[in-house]
Amino acid sequence: MNIPITSILPVGLCLGYIILLVIALRNGVHLVGIQRWLVATLLAALLAQAIQLLPIFANQTTILSQPIALIGLYLSSLMLVLFAALSVRYLQRSVATGLLVLGLLWLLVLVGISLTSTHTTEVGSPGWLGHAFTAERDTTALLTIGGWIVLGLIVLMVTFYSFYRAHLPEIANRALYWVIIVPLLLTGTILGISGTNVLKELGLVTQLVTLIGVVYGAIVHRVFDIRGVLRLAIASTLVTAITAVVIIFSMLVGRTIDPAAENGVLVLGGVAILAAILYAPLRTFTVSLVNRFFGSSGGDSAGILLRYSRDVSGVVELDELVDVSMNVLRNTLKVRRGGLILATRDDNETIRVEPMAKGLGEMPEVRGWLPKDSPIYHTLFDQLSTLLQFDLEYGRPYADVAPELASFFKQLRMSAYAPIVVQGQLIGILAAGAKNNDNPFNAQDLELLATVANQTGVALRNARLVNDLRKASEEMLALNKDLVGTKERIEQLDSVKTDFITIASHELRTPLAQIRGYTDIIDALNEQGMLDPDQMTGMTTNLRKATDRLERLIGDMLDVSQLGLDAMDLRFAQTTTESVLRLAIEPLTESVKQRKLTLVARGLRGLPPIEADMQRLVQAFRNIVTNAIKYTPDGGRIDITAHVQQNAVTKQDEIVVAIQDTGIGIDPKNHELIFEKFYRVSDPGLHSTGATKFMGAGPGLGLTIARGVIEGHGGRIWVESPGYDSEALPGATFYIVLPVSPPEHAKRVVAFEAPSTTLVLPATSREIAEPAEPDSTESIFTEAESTSGSPPA
Ligand code: ADP
Repeated sequence: MNIPITSILPVGLCLGYIILLVIALRNGVHLVGIQRWLVATLLAALLAQAIQLLPIFANQTTILSQPIALIGLYLSSLMLVLFAALSVRYLQRSVATGLLVLGLLWLLVLVGISLTSTHTTEVGSPGWLGHAFTAERDTTALLTIGGWIVLGLIVLMVTFYSFYRAHLPEIANRALYWVIIVPLLLTGTILGISGTNVLKELGLVTQLVTLIGVVYGAIVHRVFDIRGVLRLAIASTLVTAITAVVIIFSMLVGRTIDPAAENGVLVLGGVAILAAILYAPLRTFTVSLVNRFFGSSGGDSAGILLRYSRDVSGVVELDELVDVSMNVLRNTLKVRRGGLILATRDDNETIRVEPMAKGLGEMPEVRGWLPKDSPIYHTLFDQLSTLLQFDLEYGRPYADVAPELASFFKQLRMSAYAPIVVQGQLIGILAAGAKNNDNPFNAQDLELLATVANQTGVALRNARLVNDLRKASEEMLALNKDLVGTKERIEQLDSVKTDFITIASHELRTPLAQIRGYTDIIDALNEQGMLDPDQMTGMTTNLRKATDRLERLIGDMLDVSQLGLDAMDLRFAQTTTESVLRLAIEPLTESVKQRKLTLVARGLRGLPPIEADMQRLVQAFRNIVTNAIKYTPDGGRIDITAHVQQNAVTKQDEIVVAIQDTGIGIDPKNHELIFEKFYRVSDPGLHSTGATKFMGAGPGLGLTIARGVIEGHGGRIWVESPGYDSEALPGATFYIVLPVSPPEHAKRVVAFEAPSTTLVLPATSREIAEPAEPDSTESIFTEAESTSGSPPA
């Protein structure tokens, strides 16, 4: 069989498609999920081409028979539908299936209509497509051309959308590449079926060439810089035009001169030299103009880098380093964004990466973990190579990067990264964002970025060391401050211990001395037989007072020792805050009067009943009120208020009692210390003279016991006071919070079994400060007195 010369092109095209198919199948396509669409598209194109060979081999006629032409038409249409789906995948849009279904539906309609309608012209014969728009209206032609154009427009729309939405210049570049591909393929396909010989052949070749471009785009995921090539093309066109203008101009001038005339050749030479002189600056001007308009980076990068390496060596502050390095990125790479990512070894397997808050543009507050077996680490550290964000998102080697890590890099909104490695350790990553002109990063840019990163290395190491040192010294300072605080506290506690010995010896010795003195006197008088009953009564009264005092002190000390062992024995029963306070205050009313103080209690009525150890709570409140009396000068005022509130955590009701005085106040530094055993602000050498005398010293146990009792009830106690001042009298307020029902763990031992008669208070509407009825006072006083550790007035 001899193959006619006219069939060389179709055979060649078929071969071309076969080679493309082999390439597509053999070379793994970079983008996940587009290879099958690519193969399907190529297969459809190959079949559409191959079918045209049939008549050539059968009867050597180039005019197709109608059925074969129709099959060719269907295959070309299928190819376009598959190409549309491929495009959507290529642009990483998610509407591929929808588009495919739509395309196939249209194909079905096309097949149906073309088989049923009668054609005015043979499909694919010269002028066939034109019939779509003539009066006869060939429906098949109309449907074909309409469908193709709609498909093309949809793909173009998706492509433009991807271009505008692209967050990386490389992605925009891919879309731009497709903007060229789509119309080319469409034109090629339309011409291929046009039937007109030359145009048809041109169309078929265009289609093949475009599909080569498609395979290229799919295989090398990073296509060449479209705008760069365009810029180059425009620049060389302009330069060529300028050159042509200069040459034509000198030729025209040359023509007007007659070389045969005198000096003719000389003048011609002059013109040529003038043209040559004009040419060089004109060319330079054009090139710089083109660069200006199309934004080529260029600039004095070498000079800037040189200055940078000089400047950066003197930098020891991280923030300053960021400033300097970002400045260089802005001036050399002409980027809008940039940042420094610190890399710190977390353990042997992972590197913690976090961007510095400061950078060129805003930096997100994110943190990532880079495992040593990650391909990103491999690129940056093992290969010491730069990395493009685009590769990270579109490159096959990075398809398995953990989603959190991928999202970390995406959130940075950068375009390229260069590792900063010093002494075999990855200590940072220099990141550059989009360029001002939105061009993709080319090899030169990446080299520049890597150079800046290299020069930053030593400075970054130094700055990080300085930073670490500063942090360590700050920590040490804080630690030192804590230590000083602790030392002060230990010293205070130590002095509390010493005070205890002083206080205890004073407190114990005074009553003991009294007892000793009186017993000596009684002895002497007795020996002389001079004991008269009146004298005796006086002395025994004093003896009782002294022993009472001893007993109280020992009682307090025992209570406190119980607190230390966490063994305070509380007996809970239902009572009211009012009764507790009334019992606590009752024995103090006499002193209040003597000291001309005003004691007012408010808001005690209507408070919910509480479960409490009555005796202990009375003791606690009496200690606090006694203090308020002791540390408020004559004529002062003591206010007791109470209210209910809900505990924010337990949601239980609790009662808040505030005892406020207008006394000498307490220095904030002692607000906690006064609750310590044996701690008192005044001179420990003083001993408790009168229990409620102004500034009368006590053993320093009252508040310790009060806190123990209140905490034993699941409550809290604290003091608020602006400070100590015996002149200005800022006053102090003690706050006591008691849960209405104490927590289970606080409740201990049996219910309180006190004779109810002694504890029931008369319901009076008077203020507590007012003297109570003598009979009730008596009973309350007696009960309270016998159980309280506080001295009576
Ligand atoms: P003391 O037996 O010394 O009163 P406390 O434990 O009751 O012992 O109190 C400890 C110290 O707290 C007192 O020495 C006093 O300096 C200070 N203090 C207590 N209550 C007041 C108050 N209302 N105003 C000023 N200072 C107070």
